[in-house]
Formats: sequence, C-alpha cells, structure tokens
Amino acid sequence: MDSPQENPSAITSLKRKEIFDIIKTSLTKSNKSLIDLVEEHLKTVTGKPISLSAGGKSVLGKDLSKLRTKWSESHRKLDKFLADNALWLEVDVKLRECPSNTLQEPASVGGRPSTSFAASSERTKRRRTQSMRDHHEVDELAFALQMSFRNSGNVDAAKVVKDIAEGSPTTATRYRDSLTAKREKQLTKDEALSLLIESKLSKNMYNTIRTASIDHNCSLYPSYKKVQEAKKDCYPPAVDMRITETSAEVKLQALLDHTVERIFRVQQDVISSLLDSAYDTELICKWGCDGTSGQSTFKQKFDDDSEGTKTDANIFFVSIVPLQILSVEKSTQKQIVIWKNPRPSSPRFCRPLKIEFLHETAESTRLIVNDIQDQVQNLTPFQTIVDGKEVNVAYKVLLTMVDGKVCNSLTCTSSSQRCYLCDCTSKRFNNIDDILRTPLKEEHLQFGISSLHAWIRFFECLLHISYKLDVKKWQSRGDDKAKVATRKSNIQKGFRQQLGLLVDMPKQGYGSTNDGNTARRFFENAAISASITGLDLSLIKRFHVILQVISCGFEIDVPKYEAYCIETARLYVQLYPWFCMPTTVHKILLHSSKIIESSILPIGQMSEEAQESCNKFIKQYRQDFARKCTRVKNMEDVFQRLLVASDPVISSIRKLPKKKLKALDAEAVRLLKAPSYEAPSSDDDSAHPSDDEY
Ligand SMILES: [Zn+2]
Repeated sequence: MDSPQENPSAITSLKRKEIFDIIKTSLTKSNKSLIDLVEEHLKTVTGKPISLSAGGKSVLGKDLSKLRTKWSESHRKLDKFLADNALWLEVDVKLRECPSNTLQEPASVGGRPSTSFAASSERTKRRRTQSMRDHHEVDELAFALQMSFRNSGNVDAAKVVKDIAEGSPTTATRYRDSLTAKREKQLTKDEALSLLIESKLSKNMYNTIRTASIDHNCSLYPSYKKVQEAKKDCYPPAVDMRITETSAEVKLQALLDHTVERIFRVQQDVISSLLDSAYDTELICKWGCDGTSGQSTFKQKFDDDSEGTKTDANIFFVSIVPLQILSVEKSTQKQIVIWKNPRPSSPRFCRPLKIEFLHETAESTRLIVNDIQDQVQNLTPFQTIVDGKEVNVAYKVLLTMVDGKVCNSLTCTSSSQRCYLCDCTSKRFNNIDDILRTPLKEEHLQFGISSLHAWIRFFECLLHISYKLDVKKWQSRGDDKAKVATRKSNIQKGFRQQLGLLVDMPKQGYGSTNDGNTARRFFENAAISASITGLDLSLIKRFHVILQVISCGFEIDVPKYEAYCIETARLYVQLYPWFCMPTTVHKILLHSSKIIESSILPIGQMSEEAQESCNKFIKQYRQDFARKCTRVKNMEDVFQRLLVASDPVISSIRKLPKKKLKALDAEAVRLLKAPSYEAPSSDDDSAHPSDDEY
C-alpha cells in the first residue's frame, strides 16, 4: 500500500500568500466563487478532484474576508499590501477536505492501521478510548490524568485538572473566561491628556468619570495630578511666556524650540534610523494672524483701564503651524522628510504665538507682524542630541496664513477694490489682456493664496452676479434696486428649499452665514446651484475645479493650470461683462499661478484654514475651560489650553479620523502633476484623500 488512508478527511495546507496569488485577479467576486477557484487550483496541483469540507470552507471564507479588508486598507496597491502584511501572508491556512472525496480513493488493503494516537482523527480517537470511558468514572479518569501530568513534570497542568475536577462547577467556565480576558491597562498621562482634549472634558468631568470607573474596579484613568504633569510638558519655559489681563504671548524662538523637541519625541525612531549622515535639518512653518469679533464680553473690569476704553469683544490671534522637517543627505544631496504634518489645514498643530484683545486695524496688524518678523530675523537654529547624534534644526518661517484684509494691511493697500499684486483697481479687472501686461510686485507673492477665503469669495461673487442678472448692471438705482432685492430673496428661498442652505443672511453677532461649508456645498451641487441662480453651469464648474486644485495639497502642473485660469477669466468676461470681477477672483484667476510657482511647498498646505478654525476654540475655551476669577487667570488658561491642544505629542496620540474620501473632479486631476498624484487605477474607487481637512 502506498499511503495509509486511515484518516478519512485529509487536511490541505496553503500559505495565505498562495491563496492570495490564486484569487488576486478575482477579488471582487463572491467568496463562493473564490473558494471554487482555490479548489480548482488544488485539483491542478494534486491531480485529483478535491472539495473542501463545510468546516474547511468556513475557515477559508473567513480568511478571504480578512484578506479583502487588508487589501482595501492598503488602498489596493500590491506593493503596499505585500509590505504591510508580510508576516500575515506567511501563515499556513489548514483546510479540511470533504471525507467523501478521500473515501473514493481505493481502500487500503490488509494490515492494522498503525497511526499514533495524536495523529488520529477525532473519530478514531473516540473509538480507541471507548472502552476506557465505559469502565471508569470521570473523577477516576481526571485523577489519572492529573497523576500522568505530574509524572511527566507538568505540575501546572496537573493543578488545573485538579481544580476543574474537584473545584466548584463553575471553575472550568472561569478558567476559560480568564484565558480570553484582556489585561487592564492604565492610560499613560499623555494618553489621558489627549482624551481630555479630544473629548473636551473639564477637570471636573474627568474626575467624575474617573471616580465612577474606580467604583467599578477599573483603573483606566490616572489621577488628575498626572494629567497636570503631562500638561506642564506641553508648555514652553515660563520665562518666555508673558501673560497679562489683555494679552498672552510666547517668544517665537521658545515656541519653535519646544515644538521641535516635542516632534522629535514622537519621531525618535525615524530620526535614529534616518539620520546616519545628515544632521542639519530644517523646519518649515507657516504663520499668520487674524482678528475676530463676536467674543463674549465678561462682566468684569480691567485692573488697568484708566481711559475706560479696553474691551474683550475683539481678539487678535497670531499662530504658527509646523509643516515639515527636512534634511538633506550629504552624500547624495537627496531630501529626506523626517516629519510631515498629517493635517496642515487642521488646528491640530496650530500653535498659538499671541492672543490680544485688540481691534484689527491696518496699523495694529502691521505693528504685530513687524514684531514677529523681527523675531524671525533673529531666530537661531535649535541644537539637540538624538540617539547620540548632534542634530541642528534651522527654521524657515513663511507668512501665508492671512486673509485678504491682512494682506491689504501689510502691503499698505488702502482699498479692498485694489489688487495688492498688480496695483490695478476693480475697474480694470475685466480687461484681461491689459492685466496680463501689468508687471507684478514679486515681493507680495509670499502671502500665498488664502484658499479658504477663496471658496467664500468665489461663491459670493457668483451670488451677487445672479442677484443682478435681471438688471445686468454693476450698480443698481431706483426701480432696479427693488428688482434686485426681489430676485435675491427668491434665490435665498431656493437654496433653503433645495439644498437646505442659509445663504447671505447676517449671522447673530458677527459676519454672515456664508462660510467655507456653504461655499463647498454650493459648488459640489453645481447643477442645482446653476438652476437656482440662473448662472452659467460651466463657469460654476470651472470655478469649482480651480478651488479644488488650489486646496488639494498636491503638486500642481502650473502651465496647464495657468492656461485653465485665463480661459476661465475670459469666459467670465464674455458672460458677465457688466459685473466687475471681485478682487479675490481676480487674484486667483490671473495671479495664482505665479503665487504657486513661488511657493516652496504645495500651495494647498499653506492655507489659512488652520488659523481660522482656531478662532472658535478660543471662544469656547474662554467660556468653558478657563477660570474666570480674574482676567489674567482666564487669559492664562485659554493660552495654555491652546498650547496643549496643538502639542505635537498630544496631537499625535489621537487616531486620525478616517477622512471621507472626496473625489477630485477629473478636470481637477488633469491640472495636477502626474508623479505626485497617482491616478486612480481601474479597480480603485477613483477617490483620493486630499491632504487637508477639506
Ligand atoms: Zn492683480
């Protein structure tokens, strides 16, 4: 006899990698057809028909589902999938075959089966022990087992058998439960602090939750004292911070040094593995400032307010966002990215430099910006030792988180109708060829694009054209005024009914309802927006494409993009010659390609959105997370909470929420540079995460 067929159901084993190779071209098919494929493969390999048992199929089915999950987690990229799951793919999957199959084989003839007990099948084992079980009690057998274990030196096993046989009836169940139970692990102080910030807990709330959990024998939460220790690690040295009842600020050098130190703590492994030869690195940051109104005014007087003019209704906020730490390898001159901000447009890494109760005027803006620029001039590189190597970090600080108002203040442009780049006024904006001949003030290109505000301004521009479509005049007088007002209210009603949007309504306290989200919804539903407003659909779509390109954070194909912008500008003038282009629309359509060219990182990463979204946190922190006993304490608490919330270590603990994948329009993808943008392959869901919170 060639092979003993004592075991009626044989086991086939395949590596996961082998299974993957068999089915990789058919991943979208159902589990059933994939199992068929595996069986087909086994048939060709063994040369005999094989069908898997129900158990075998279920094992394989589970593995296939897992494989699919992992495949999509790797974004359906073969290299990434193989690299991420190298170990997992090496594991053997044991698949039981259908007994009927093997029984079809010619039965073995003559001689007693001589397989060892351990290698026998369940059925054989049952048969072989039948008489033993018939002639002895359970207690007797358990005792025998206990003794055998002890004799073979396995004392623990002997004790377990004794416990189960002689202990209470629930002992066995408790043994099993304890095997699957996971060990309790207390949060570290940094994790607890991250939780406190992410869940917006106050000290009181944290302690309440902690007490409740301790009552239930759970020691998940460390004491608040530990959390306070973690908080202290998030502050730059106290000597470099200055807090008064009207302002809080930290020295730029101290804040940057502290930020780098904290980033290095997160990236320690990367740094020790990457930095073999390169020790000179550079941190690229963007910074900016903005004033906000609509803060809650406290019923509390200022200590030093002899003139009675101080107010806490307006806040001026200056912040800085670290973007990348780069290093150049000396031998190959290749750039290495040591750290990259995963969300350059979110407030997550937006570090506060200064908060002041101050009304935003051209003069106050210039004063504060000049002060920071002075500090930038005097920055010295940060030196530290990582893993026994000396590392120098130089700083490159770019002023790009600004809106149109701040740009105008800084360039001494007094009218919002004047472009600070070409110095033309809105009267000339519609004369495209004239503008294209006008030289630019190169030094003003540094202020970037202000992509968040661009969405709102483009949206408002289209709205205002649509209000005036009946009269077709830039300025409306007399009868026309009434016509425009009626059309406006109809359009507002249309947006409320069809898209649920509140458009162009004054907001309680400050500003209007036209925010970034309203603008995004307007452009995403271009067809509906066009039908409500009566505007040209292709112009709305073109505006949307340009906005997507400047905010996506990928490298842009500048010549293609420039041509597209100018075509769009010409289309605008052809459609609505009577409506002077607003300044922001003019800036983006005619100058943005030059701005993009001069930017050292993709322009989408330079957006002012991070700074802008901090404003609502300041408001919230002042009201709910700061002591109100004195104004100084209130200011101190707000500033410190901003420091903690933007701390690189604390922010990196939080799991990044899965971003809703938003597909860029195909038209927008065409304007991006090919190498940095991997075009979606056919089996991809043609969506790509953009680099910011967009
Ligand atoms: Zn201009």
